Amino acid sequence: MEQNNKLSMSRRHFVGVASILGASLGLAACGQSEQAAPEKKPEEAKEKSAEATKPAEEKKEGAGLQDEYDLVVVGAGGAGLSTAISAFDAGVKNICVLEKMGVVGGNSNFATSGMNASETKYQKEQGIEDSNVLFADETFKGGHELGNRELVDFMCQHSAGAIDWLAENGIVLDNLTQTGGMSVKRCHRPTDGAAVGGVLIKGLKAAMEKRSLPIFDEHKVTKLVKEGDSVNGLEVETKEGKKTIKAKAIVLAAGGLGSNQELIKKYRPDLEGYVSTNHAGATGDGYVLGEEAGAELIQMDQIQIHPTVEQSSAKLIGEALRGSGGILVNKEAKRFTNEMDTRDKVSAAELKQPEKIVYLIFDQKVYDANKAAAKYEKAGITKKGTDLADLAKQLELDPTTLQATVDAYNEVAGGKADEFGRTTGLAQLDFGTAYAIKVAPGIHHAMGGIKINDKNQALDKDNNPIKGFYAAGEVTGGIHGGNRIGGNAVCDIIVFGKNTGEQVAEFLKA
Ligand code: ADP
Repeated sequence: MEQNNKLSMSRRHFVGVASILGASLGLAACGQSEQAAPEKKPEEAKEKSAEATKPAEEKKEGAGLQDEYDLVVVGAGGAGLSTAISAFDAGVKNICVLEKMGVVGGNSNFATSGMNASETKYQKEQGIEDSNVLFADETFKGGHELGNRELVDFMCQHSAGAIDWLAENGIVLDNLTQTGGMSVKRCHRPTDGAAVGGVLIKGLKAAMEKRSLPIFDEHKVTKLVKEGDSVNGLEVETKEGKKTIKAKAIVLAAGGLGSNQELIKKYRPDLEGYVSTNHAGATGDGYVLGEEAGAELIQMDQIQIHPTVEQSSAKLIGEALRGSGGILVNKEAKRFTNEMDTRDKVSAAELKQPEKIVYLIFDQKVYDANKAAAKYEKAGITKKGTDLADLAKQLELDPTTLQATVDAYNEVAGGKADEFGRTTGLAQLDFGTAYAIKVAPGIHHAMGGIKINDKNQALDKDNNPIKGFYAAGEVTGGIHGGNRIGGNAVCDIIVFGKNTGEQVAEFLKA
C-alpha cells in the first residue's frame, strides 16, 4: 500500500508527563458534593474523566503512520508500552503504538498501590521472606479460585524479573507495603511512597523515547483485519480520516470497560449507575475488536468494585492507606470489617452500613507514608481535624465512640486479636492531626476478557491461538478470577506486557 501523504501529516505525540500528572489531579479536583454510594451519575463521571484526559499542549512533530509494521500495539497503557519496549529489545524494529486518547497511560496512570511481586531483591534486602508459590496461592485464593492457575503461576514466577526489568528502565519500586489479601509485604512502590501509576508511565514513556519508538495518539483502532486464520492488519481512525495498515503481529492492549455504561449493563446489570474510577478511554473497545476477530471472551461478568472510592470525584483512594494503618468506620463511628480483606468483601461490608456511609480514618504517620494523601487533601476530598475529637465533630460522628474505636484498634495493632480478623497492615494510630475521606465502592477493574495462553496469544473458542494476534493487560481475562488483589494489576501488565513483546519477537523470527 502506498504511503498516504495526507496521513504523514499526522503527528507522533510525545505527551509531557506533567500533563499526565496534571490529568490525575484534574480528576481529583472535580466537584466536591459528598454523596452516599452508589450514586447514579455516570455521565457526570465520564465528563470528569474526559476533562482529566485533555490532550497535552506540548506536541512534537514526527513521521506519519506507515502503511506496514512488524508489530502494532493497540493502546498506550502500561501493558502496551511494556510490550513495545520488550519487543524492541528482543529484536523487533518496526513497531508502533496506537492510542485513541490525547494522552498516553490509560488507567495505568491512575494505579495507586504499587506492584505485587515475590522473591524480589528489594524484599531480600529488607529481610522480607516470601515465595512465588505463596504469592500465587494467595492470588488464586483471593480470586475465588476462578483464575487460570497456569497464568497465575506464570505471573508470580516472573514478577521478580519484571521488577528488575523496570529498574533497568529507570523505574525503581523499592518501597514495600501490603495490600488486602496478601500475607506479606510484596507491594512494591516508588522510593518516596508515591502512587505507582504516574511514575510507571513516566518511566515507560522515557524508555519508549530512548528507543525512538513512536506512539500515535488520537489514533483509534476500529477493526482488526483477518485473512484466513490470521490477523494481519487493522483499521485506524485518525483526525485526517480512516486508514488500513498491515502488521505481521498485533497486540491488543486496550484496557478495560469501566467507562462504558452500556457494556457494564450488558455484563453486570447490577452495577449500572455505580461511579467508575476508570479514565474516559476505558470503553471496552478491545473486547469488541477481539471478539470480532475470533477471540473468545471469558468471565466477562467479573467486574471488580473497589471499596475506597471518593464519590464526588470518582477518585480511588489507594489501598496502601489502609495497608499502613488506616481504618474504616461507619456513621456510628465503629469499625465493621477487616479493612485488609479482599476488595469484594470490604465493598460488600460497606454496602451493609447505615446509610452506606463510610469514612477512611488515618493519622499523620499514614499521611506521611503515602504521597497520594497530600494529593487527596489538595483535591479537597479530605477532612482534617486538629485532633480526633475535632475530626469527629466535622464528620458528625460521636467523638467518644470514635475514640473508643481507635483505642480498641490500637490494642489490636499492639497484638490483641481483632474481632474482625485483621492481622495485616496494623499500625497504631496516633492523633494529633486526624484525617478522614468519605468512601464507597466504585467500578474499578475488568477481570474477564480475551482468553490467552502463557505466550499471550489470543485464543479462539477451541483454544487455538489466532495467528499474529496477541493480547495483554486488562483486556485479557482469566488471571484475576473473581477478585483482583490490590497491586496485581501492575504486576499483570508488566509481566505479561514484557512477555508479549518477547513472544512476538520469537514469532516474527520464526
Ligand atoms: P492496561 O493497564 O491493560 O495497560 P490501560 O487502561 O492502562 O490498560 O491502557 C489501555 C489504553 O488503550 C488506554 O490508553 C486506552 O485509551 C487505549 N485504547 C482503548 N481502546 C483503544 C482503541 N480502540 N484504539 C486505540 N487505543 C485504545
